[in-house]
Amino acid sequence: MSIIRVALDVPVNTLFDYLLPDDEVTRGDVGARVRVPFGKNALTGVIMEVIPHPLVPTRRLRAASHVLRDIPPLPKNVLDLFRFCSEYYHHPLGEVVMNGLPTRLRSNKPFIEESHTDFQYRLTPTGQSTDLSAIPVRSVVKRRLLARLKEQDAISMTETREVSSRAVGAIKEFMASGWVEEILVPPGGSRLFEESAGLPVLTPAQQSAVNAIAAKTSEFNAWLLHGVTGSGKTEVYLRLISLLLRQGRQTLVLVPEINLTPQLEASFRTRFPSIRMVSLHSALNASERAVGWLQAQQAEAQLILGTRLAVFTPLPKLGLIIVDEEHDASFKQQEGLRYSARDVAVFRAKQANVPVILGSATPSLESYYAALSGRYTMLRLPFRAAKNASLPVVRYIDTRKAKSEDGLMAPVIAALERCLALNQQSLVFINRRGYAPVLLCKSCGWSAACHRCASRLVVHLREKQMRCHHCGHREAVPNACPECGDQDIAPFGHGTQRVAATLEERFPDARIMRIDRDSTRRKDAWQQMLKDIQEKRVDILVGTQIMAKGHDFPNLALVAILNSDASLYSTDFRASERLFAQLMQVAGRAGRAGIEGEVLIQTEFAGHPLYHALQKQDYDALARTLLEERRTAGFPPFVYQALLRAEAPEISATLSFLKSAAAVAQAPEEVEVFDPVPAQMSRLKGMERACLLAQSASRKKLQTFLAGWRSRLDALPSRKVRWTLDVDPLEF
Ligand code: ADP
Ligand code: ZN
Ligand code: ZN
Repeated sequence: MSIIRVALDVPVNTLFDYLLPDDEVTRGDVGARVRVPFGKNALTGVIMEVIPHPLVPTRRLRAASHVLRDIPPLPKNVLDLFRFCSEYYHHPLGEVVMNGLPTRLRSNKPFIEESHTDFQYRLTPTGQSTDLSAIPVRSVVKRRLLARLKEQDAISMTETREVSSRAVGAIKEFMASGWVEEILVPPGGSRLFEESAGLPVLTPAQQSAVNAIAAKTSEFNAWLLHGVTGSGKTEVYLRLISLLLRQGRQTLVLVPEINLTPQLEASFRTRFPSIRMVSLHSALNASERAVGWLQAQQAEAQLILGTRLAVFTPLPKLGLIIVDEEHDASFKQQEGLRYSARDVAVFRAKQANVPVILGSATPSLESYYAALSGRYTMLRLPFRAAKNASLPVVRYIDTRKAKSEDGLMAPVIAALERCLALNQQSLVFINRRGYAPVLLCKSCGWSAACHRCASRLVVHLREKQMRCHHCGHREAVPNACPECGDQDIAPFGHGTQRVAATLEERFPDARIMRIDRDSTRRKDAWQQMLKDIQEKRVDILVGTQIMAKGHDFPNLALVAILNSDASLYSTDFRASERLFAQLMQVAGRAGRAGIEGEVLIQTEFAGHPLYHALQKQDYDALARTLLEERRTAGFPPFVYQALLRAEAPEISATLSFLKSAAAVAQAPEEVEVFDPVPAQMSRLKGMERACLLAQSASRKKLQTFLAGWRSRLDALPSRKVRWTLDVDPLEF
């Protein structure tokens, strides 16, 4: 008998031991999925270890049902990556492992059951020795199919259908009689790598970035590609991917959001028409995702483009990792295993001894500081790449000096008018969806609030609803104030719907498009919208932060930014960094291809240092100022933090849990544990939330402390309290 140690998706930080007879499991099954009994249920897990000679009394152990060998086991380096994440994020290993697998592979069904076009069919030895004459002459389809199978190594489902529509049934029958077996498409397909012709001549900056990285493709280096918006980072990626393709190695490209994949996917596709590229993101259905994942695992896909979860994909020939828009907060998962895909990518590159490129026009201060201090290598693209394209001119419009026309100042209206006349596109940026962020009673001051969250309800006028953007709660807009009965209640402030409505009224002939989470929710909606923008079927875009992400809109001449002042004086120490990155990114959409770009910002605080840096498009100046502030105040990246988050229906339960947590902290001198404080969203979905911060100037000391603390936390009574540890938190 052997003991197998299995990772299961249960919130306990341990592996589970099961027995299997020696002829049913070998060391080669480490990394394979396995079915095991768990309580009264059966679960699918992953074998992390096989111990041939049981060292412990085996009587108490249950037997595993069977090992799933439908796909090759997870390779050791991926299992090691999971172990690293479990240790670093202090999260149960079983949950980390199962979180890293595509849903389809977590389920009970063997994967291969599903006939998919990516499987092929070939004759077994029995089938090969079966003569055509074994099939009656009248079974035309079967005879043709067998003949075809004898001619060809293996045939796909599509090819089977070409034989006859009934051939699919015949294949099944052949399989039942043991003549045919189903196989995965063999790796390393015969397609040759081709590159489309007519590449642009690299700018000197692009060229030296490519040269620097190309000279070191066989060793770990973290490259911070700091290129201003429109500097042609994509072209740098493309050249390096091409190099890696010629070396027969895989490239993993991580992007912050699914919204970004279509454009990048299209440019990869155009450049490398013949390679196998897979895209791994949450909009795929479970089977598509599993098939893509499998092609990556078989080294059949050479280019893997995905959102944060793709960082866990097995890649036997990994040669390069690219993290595009590395500053983006969505690389951090905000529930369950709270990992940062960017940081895991850097670890993974180190593990595989390959380069990792972190690309951004506005690097995170963590990465920027790492580059300043020599841990990463900075590569700069200081100018725009396209001919005649220069960075846009930024101007401020003082909102205190004149009245606005429903949120839009006169110079903005005039600029929009000019763009319309010139047939150029413009973008009005307002980072708030819905019609108005508040519904207010003018006589008693009441405002509509969510009863489950510490937040106001946002008015969505089109839908005649008020919605909570945190928990999704919806209710009808009341006719009168529920407090005083007065009918003088009105939406206050501006959101995308309201701005779009104002513009529609002001410019009745303009084609106006609203781009926010509501309007892009429907599948494929965003792709269609991108096409409409590219093909100039839109004049004015009204959009939220979706617009701040890496898109290339060549016809966009004007960007107007409304309502960005709110984050200037936030208590969150990361607010300035985030606001600056967002505004630089949005501003960077203007004037990318020869059209002169203009950016207008409506503000009360035109003199603020952040706006000053923005006007000069001087990321470095602001980054250095912010870093200096952080050094003085003792914030990351000068300290390392971990946050213990807790929530319960009653605030007293939350706080008493955190107090006991602090009591068992036993922090060493180098680690500071603060008092419990309310979370930024102090109430969410009916739960009262608070947190406890631990920090240290030494990452190692913090890690050692967390390991001990975590096990003491597990032992605390925590009835009705949900808690998690968040290492390197981005939000409080
Ligand atoms: P970034 O991602 O750095 O903001 P992009 O990669 O989107 O910039 O490139 C901006 C624009 O510049 C694109 O339209 C691209 O086709 C163009 N471009 C990139 N490199 C060159 C080059 N070497 N010569 C001419 N145009 C280029
Ligand atoms: Zn009232
Ligand atoms: Zn709510």
